[in-house]
Amino acid sequence: MENHKKRKVVLWSLWLLIVPAGLLTIYNFFPPVIMEPWNLVAYTLFFILMSFMPMNINGASTFLVQWVTVAVFLKYGIFVEILITQLAMFIVLYRSRTNEEQSLRIPFNSLMFFFVSLIAGLTYMLAGGEFNSLDLSNVLVFGLIFQVVSVLVNQIIYYLYDYSIGEHSKFLSLDAIWDFGLMFVIFPYAIALYLFEAYIGMAALVLLGVPFFTMTAVMKMYNNSEQINSDLKKAGLIGHDLADRLEIEEVLDQFVVKVADMFKVEYAYIIDYRDEQQQILRIYENNQLQPREIAPFSYNQGIVGKVITTGDSYIYDNKKQWKDLKIGKLPEDVQSIMATPIARNNKIEGVLLLASKKKYAFVKHQLQILEILSTYFAVSVEKAGYMQKIINKSERCGLTKLYNYRYLDESLESCIDEMKAGRLDQLSLVMMDIDYFKSVNDRYGHQSGNDILVQLADILRAEIGTEGTIARYGGEEFVVLLQNYSKERAMLLAENLRKRIEKYDFLIENDLAEDRQQQVIHITMSIGVSTAPDDSDEGMALIRNADRALYIGAKQAGRNKVAAYVK
Ligand code: GH3
Ligand code: MG
Ligand code: MG
Repeated sequence: MENHKKRKVVLWSLWLLIVPAGLLTIYNFFPPVIMEPWNLVAYTLFFILMSFMPMNINGASTFLVQWVTVAVFLKYGIFVEILITQLAMFIVLYRSRTNEEQSLRIPFNSLMFFFVSLIAGLTYMLAGGEFNSLDLSNVLVFGLIFQVVSVLVNQIIYYLYDYSIGEHSKFLSLDAIWDFGLMFVIFPYAIALYLFEAYIGMAALVLLGVPFFTMTAVMKMYNNSEQINSDLKKAGLIGHDLADRLEIEEVLDQFVVKVADMFKVEYAYIIDYRDEQQQILRIYENNQLQPREIAPFSYNQGIVGKVITTGDSYIYDNKKQWKDLKIGKLPEDVQSIMATPIARNNKIEGVLLLASKKKYAFVKHQLQILEILSTYFAVSVEKAGYMQKIINKSERCGLTKLYNYRYLDESLESCIDEMKAGRLDQLSLVMMDIDYFKSVNDRYGHQSGNDILVQLADILRAEIGTEGTIARYGGEEFVVLLQNYSKERAMLLAENLRKRIEKYDFLIENDLAEDRQQQVIHITMSIGVSTAPDDSDEGMALIRNADRALYIGAKQAGRNKVAAYVK
């Protein structure tokens, strides 16, 4: 920041020292060769008009005003050329809005163009070029010298400036090559204008201006459709990628990052709309996803609220346009905003909001593409939701939400594979069966039995957490798969479980009693443990062994016991 201020002070001081005095000196030494006020006014108007029509080349706005400045130079000399170039600079700076502060750009560009004009002009005169001359070779040779020197000096100043602020750019950048290339378009035009004007007067401006403006307009339209094509292609790719994502969280992450990247914005947000509230789901700032700890807002507040209540998409070109709507904390440097509803079956589910530090960052066709993207997004979220449900259904038991037999079976086999591949040393399997569960059902009813199974599943989840894989193996039988657990550790864990369950107050509603009152009951479990590779190194054998330990070692020995498999 300090550096920035210093640069500003230096640039403005230099400007004050050099430009006004320089202009005066040049006027004294090289006054305009001829003065035709009306012609000059016409030139200036023409020139202003042209400065408002940038040509988009290579993705950047390019202002081809030089063909007029060269003609003006050849006719009126260095002083008028400097003035008109300075004027062009102001218009161009105003038109090509970037985030960089004008207070820095104005003195820099003014100084730069002053030197470009001065050096190129002096070179022209030193080389022997004449003004207002109709000698073709004079015009061609010295005109070309003027042009080449202009472009060169321009490049050198840019290079030196970058160097002075510590950015080491390549001397012959792509931009520089473009500038040289453009020179060959501009120069013949400039000469034609100059000569034409000398013979037929101001009609030359119209005659050459018409094709020039037409060309600019055509290029603009062409560029626009190119841009739309390329944006549509990118949007298609994003849609395709989203469709492959199976989890909702993943869809959200992917989407916000990719859209921010596609539209080259610094900030992107996904906001969820439900229960009359808007809640931020994803925050993408400064090239990464940020934690979201922002409290929800009422659904109708702010820019997002406007999108939700109207169902429309919006573009804001600068801060002034949305300042009054603002809620929450958008970063200070946000200028442009583009926001669109995320809708499914004509119902708004959320809002996608992109924000840029640049003014006028978005154009209308981008908003339409954003709308398409948000539809892709909504569909992908819905699909991921279905997928998750289906996967859960096929992997989990509906009553307890624990893994089911099938999942356990696969998990066991993949653990065995890991062990055979040497990536897993030990694997213990704990099998549990509720004691006398049939009589619980008989006494309290089947529903109460189910309630107990659900509470038991909760206990298992709480006790085992991420230590093992818990599955409901059969009716009232459960299995826990413990990776890298020795038999001793598994026995210890089983014993703790047994004690915990024995003491636990299971709460049921006795559906067989008249008043269905709540009631506390106690159950116990018998548990068998087997371990690979000690007992066996096959999955099915591991289960069989645990089962045998359970029945012989625990049930037959009196129940409410933990037993290990012994060969
Ligand atoms: P023990 O294991 O101690 O030998 O006696 P038990 O009464 O528990 O006998 P067993 O394990 O053979 O019986 C299983 C009983 O569990 C049969 C059935 O009544 C009950 N059961 C199995 N699945 C469910 C279920 O999903 N819900 C309910 N409520 N009961 C179930
Ligand atoms: Mg059983
Ligand atoms: Mg039982």
